[in-house]
Amino acid sequence: MAVFEALTHGHEQVVFCNDPEVGLKAIIAIHSTALGPALGGCRMWPYHNEAEALTDVLRLSRGMTYKAAVAGLNLGGGKAVIIADPAKDKSEALFRAFGRHVQALGGRYITAEDVGTKVKDMAFIRMETKFVTGLSTELGGSGDPSPVTALGVFSGIQACLDAVHGNDSLKGRSVAIQGLGNVGYNLARYLHQAGATLYFCDINHERELAIQKEFGGQVVREEEFYGLEVDVLSPCALGGILNEETIPRIKAPIVAGAANNQLRDEVRDGRALHERGILYAPDYVINAGGLINVYSEIHHYPRERALHEARSIRDVVSRILQISRAERVTPSAASDHLAEVRLNMAAHLRRFYTGENRT
Ligand code: NAD
Repeated sequence: MAVFEALTHGHEQVVFCNDPEVGLKAIIAIHSTALGPALGGCRMWPYHNEAEALTDVLRLSRGMTYKAAVAGLNLGGGKAVIIADPAKDKSEALFRAFGRHVQALGGRYITAEDVGTKVKDMAFIRMETKFVTGLSTELGGSGDPSPVTALGVFSGIQACLDAVHGNDSLKGRSVAIQGLGNVGYNLARYLHQAGATLYFCDINHERELAIQKEFGGQVVREEEFYGLEVDVLSPCALGGILNEETIPRIKAPIVAGAANNQLRDEVRDGRALHERGILYAPDYVINAGGLINVYSEIHHYPRERALHEARSIRDVVSRILQISRAERVTPSAASDHLAEVRLNMAAHLRRFYTGENRT
């Protein structure tokens, strides 16, 4: 297998972790430590083969570099994948073995929860390494990141409204939320408090009714969501939902939500939205509250500081939309550019201080 050929995006280090006794097969990818230790979740997934796992961890770790850079955090980008089925392969021994591999990296990589892993699994990893975050409040961690993520999404929506209407008020505005889970619920709360009219859908009808009881608003069917005549569509459930089939149906001028990887094809679908004049807030920018939360945990900052930084996502989104307008590029291209400016600056400073530039 041509592993080095897969490293076309400048990954610094890729570690293969093997412990047959406990069934551990994992890959840790460190994309960049230019801004700080590489932080990113540990995904547990029954990949079809090792190449698929490697592709996933390389893509996800690079995404974390960009996310941290745009959010203004002193963190690099990393990610880990454990090739196993979370429904039947979890054990204390497996997570502790993974924790020892994380520890061996001496802090270059910090792990956290991700798809297929839970706070409880992080507690096993914590037995072997301090380089783990996203712990429960009982273990001294920051607990559920969702309220911070939701505040970041709310602030990003304000920036989008300001860009479109010249003011960020939610009074008299309408927002449709897809997915009323941990983030969707907290977002609905912020929007309701700010005076927005809500529309929402979830595959769980009980959640729809509970939210309607608490905040009012209207339940819609999932097929109706994309064509709603609202000010903002806020996808807070699944990835890949902005695609060739859904984009032509969108009537809202703004799409801004928490879900990861909303664009099925980042370039094609990002352009399609842009060409239709729909303002899309890049997901990795607007949902950075979760990362801000664990960053605060690492530095033992109070919750208020994480909330304050989540609010500043508003300024980041405004800046990205300015660049997008001025340069006539999609907001995603503008945010990638912003991240690269910061990463290049960090690399330049490092070369300067280590004397690598001197001849
Ligand atoms: P969650 O699992 O708590 O909630 C997801 C909700 O979406 C559930 O209520 C589920 O029933 C609903 N849902 C699933 N399929 C649906 C569909 N087809 N139509 C409508 N609703 C559907 O997850 P969450 O923590 O609220 O995260 C939501 C999204 O935001 C995810 O994509 C997640 O990756 C992303 N995200 C979350 C955080 C965080 O802090 N929790 C941070 C960054 C990104």
